[in-house]
Amino acid sequence: MSINHLVRPNILKLVPYSSARSEFKGKAEVFLDANENPFETGLNRYPDPLQWKLKAAISNLKGVPVEQIFLGNGSDEAIDLVVRIFCEPRQDHILILPPTYGMYQVSADIADVGVRSVSLTPDFQPDVPAILAAADEHSKILFICSPNNPTGNSVDLEHIRSLCTQFKGVVVVDEAYIDFSKEASCTTLLAEFPNLIVLQTFSKAWGMAGIRLGMAFASPEIIQLFNKVKPPYNINQLTQQIALEALETSQDDYKKLLSILLTERERLEKALAGLKFVQQVYPTDANFILVKMDDPNGTYQYLVDAGIIVRNRNSVHLCAGSLRITVGRPEENDALLTALEQK
Ligand code: PMP
Repeated sequence: MSINHLVRPNILKLVPYSSARSEFKGKAEVFLDANENPFETGLNRYPDPLQWKLKAAISNLKGVPVEQIFLGNGSDEAIDLVVRIFCEPRQDHILILPPTYGMYQVSADIADVGVRSVSLTPDFQPDVPAILAAADEHSKILFICSPNNPTGNSVDLEHIRSLCTQFKGVVVVDEAYIDFSKEASCTTLLAEFPNLIVLQTFSKAWGMAGIRLGMAFASPEIIQLFNKVKPPYNINQLTQQIALEALETSQDDYKKLLSILLTERERLEKALAGLKFVQQVYPTDANFILVKMDDPNGTYQYLVDAGIIVRNRNSVHLCAGSLRITVGRPEENDALLTALEQK
């Protein structure tokens, strides 16, 4: 089933920017077509606009064909593009499920696209009937974050399946924290649901937030729309090189560090639950822990004064009383726990 009916008409008929380079790469020796500086610096040429080498390595890792992969300047770029591909300003809207990641709303606000919020249930799962009741023909995108930021829990796969089946627009499942989770990625659902987009990132478990590299996995049709709309050279050459090198040579290091973080997460969960002013440590599949406590504002300020910064989520919907704490290095977690034990 085509998703063309969901796409903004101007994007469907858009003639994208194209450079002649890809057509002639490997077939010519003198490239005087792109107004580059001809002197070799190692960086004087524009990078591969479609990042084929890097995508091949990612395809290998994720088991998703290259033509079903888009790479963005962080997954934040994919969020921004998806809003601009599908939502007509001042006419369409996105659906979000608060409490959730803030950029869905910000990207919609920038694009002058509406936002409808349907609260998660008290156990932080999507309220499927309420979402379907809130949706109409202008509901173009539903953003689901799993594991969810800031609550940390994974969304039940059955809810995601049910929403992919019944929601008439595009379902974006943001899996920025999936590598910390025991749950399977929704990329396994791509063949079944042509309206599904799965987002992942190199910023979290891969430890490369600084290179800005996010991934979107979707049908080839949706990926072609991303490619039409993206800035021509959105992934710079250094990012492509560093990510490729990490995939080719650093997977063992990655696994070691990930396993340390998971051990540390468990240690933090237990220690936090033992503090007398802590009311609840919410179960987490991410690299952060939402903790409900007495006097969250006072505790937040106490930690700031001790030189430790966490995220105060006390004023966030369904998160009253809570701080969100990122799992740090062992010595950082020690510092946090020592400070909290002395409070
Ligand atoms: N999605 C979620 C749920 C996030 O928490 C974040 C980063 N905080 C992002 C996406 C953005 O990640 P990136 O660095 O890939 O832009």
